[in-house]
Amino acid sequence: MMKVSVNREKCQGHNRCYMICPQVYKVDADTYAYIEEEDVPEALRDQVRRGAEVCPEKAITLIE
Ligand code: SF4
Repeated sequence: MMKVSVNREKCQGHNRCYMICPQVYKVDADTYAYIEEEDVPEALRDQVRRGAEVCPEKAITLIE
């Protein structure tokens, strides 16, 4: 099981997470990230981890 969340107060809208895994990291009209579905399917977990690693604001939390 993996769950992902984005702290919208930390997010600065760099979109790096989105560029790595747009299936999970969504971007609103102001370019800030949000999560539509917090349960991450197994096939996307590596991508989601990489997206979290490249976030310069450490705004992404993973629960595994
Ligand atoms: S990489 Fe981090 S700061 Fe940038 S949009 Fe994604 S969550 Fe926000």
